Amino acid sequence: MGEDSKKDEENVTFESLGLCDELCAATKELGWTNPTKIQQEAIPIALQGRDIIGLAETGSGKTGAFSLPMLHLLLESPQRLFGVVMAPTRELAFQIHEVLTALGSSVGAKSLCVVGGVDIMTQAISLARKPHFVVATPGRLVDHLENTKGFNLRNLKFLCLDEADRMLSMDFEEEINKVLQVIPRDRTTYLFSATMTSKVAKLQRASLHDPVKVQVSTKYQTVSTLVQQYMFVPFSHKDCYLVYLLNELAGQTAIIFTSTCSHAQRATLILRNLGMHAVCLHGQMSQPKRLGALNKFKSGDRSVLIATDVASRGLDIPCVDLVVNYDVPSNSKDYIHRVGRTARAGRSGRAVTIVTQYEVELYQKIEASLGKKLDAFPFEKELVLVLLERVSEAQRLAALDMREDAGFRKRKKGGRFEKDEGGSEVAHLLKRGKFQKKQKRGGRGQKQRRR
Ligand code: AMP
Repeated sequence: MGEDSKKDEENVTFESLGLCDELCAATKELGWTNPTKIQQEAIPIALQGRDIIGLAETGSGKTGAFSLPMLHLLLESPQRLFGVVMAPTRELAFQIHEVLTALGSSVGAKSLCVVGGVDIMTQAISLARKPHFVVATPGRLVDHLENTKGFNLRNLKFLCLDEADRMLSMDFEEEINKVLQVIPRDRTTYLFSATMTSKVAKLQRASLHDPVKVQVSTKYQTVSTLVQQYMFVPFSHKDCYLVYLLNELAGQTAIIFTSTCSHAQRATLILRNLGMHAVCLHGQMSQPKRLGALNKFKSGDRSVLIATDVASRGLDIPCVDLVVNYDVPSNSKDYIHRVGRTARAGRSGRAVTIVTQYEVELYQKIEASLGKKLDAFPFEKELVLVLLERVSEAQRLAALDMREDAGFRKRKKGGRFEKDEGGSEVAHLLKRGKFQKKQKRGGRGQKQRRR
């Protein structure tokens, strides 16, 4: 981009986009000095009352791009149950709700977050108060539409589908169609998606009326401020290399992505056994635990977040210096979304993908779709292997702890078992020097406490 056009972009203000004074003031309160590119493109069109299809990468400011015009138009014709935003995951829904609440408080707009994992009766009572906006995951919204007496969306003015590609790939098509059938046809619709898949195109045809397309990024692109590297390591020493990497880049905030919940759990236990401030986020944790873990990371209380792809999309996690792919993602789309957690808004960042002998082919496919060969993260094998003994001990304790968890889950049939942040009882005991004693007693102490 030339210097002049860059300057032009900086000259654009929220005021110049036509937003009311209250909302402009609210953006300042959030520290948003100038609109991002997607906001510059989408807001003027939205204020004309048009439907929008927005293709925007994660971290582009798309939540503001659809929230600000909806709030502006609410102020022009105030009404309860004015808009619904649908999002694929509970975390994303909660974040959108937070943005709508923060911006909306300036104009007295109320938002309610309606997601699974939260008491449905309490939600029904809150819905009866008729907030201006409902931010929901598809399943729970349909549940309320079908079962909550007195709740309907017959006068809805706005529908926003966020991360539509993700919602469709998670098989929410049926739920989305159910919602489309019970809302007015003359509503305004915004559809935001990171990628334009054939399913998104079909949904666009079914739900949007003469939309304007706004696009700020092309598919499968990473930003230039992102350093992308790989580490080719033997499978048997994968954890050792992970620990080495984190030690080398100590002091940086990191998200480590794993392919399964149990990998996330295990890696968390290992790192915590080694004294690192790690916290876990995956789909088998309840909603309050997930949000609790995320908040600990966001507040800086924990510097390492180990997450499955649940956390890789849409989450508003600021200032991440490092993304580690502990497992190679299964496709390039997921790779882009994962590494999009760093190097945001012009900052620099690093993404390192750990590749074992079993993942070479998968990794090469990702490199091919990125259209470039990545550099190796430099390391000296001897220095890595110095860590082996300590990592092996941490692995052993983690395995022990996970076995205990599995046994406990079996006993607690039908119930959901989670410990604090997916954390390690063994690590706590070790810290308090009680591990040996408990083991000698055949673990009775732990069993009694857990019951
Ligand atoms: P989103 O893509 O909506 O998830 O936004 C990504 C991040 O950018 C969030 O942390 C927002 O708070 C932040 N953000 C959104 N709009 C702006 C803006 N105009 N200026 C600065 N930061 C922004």
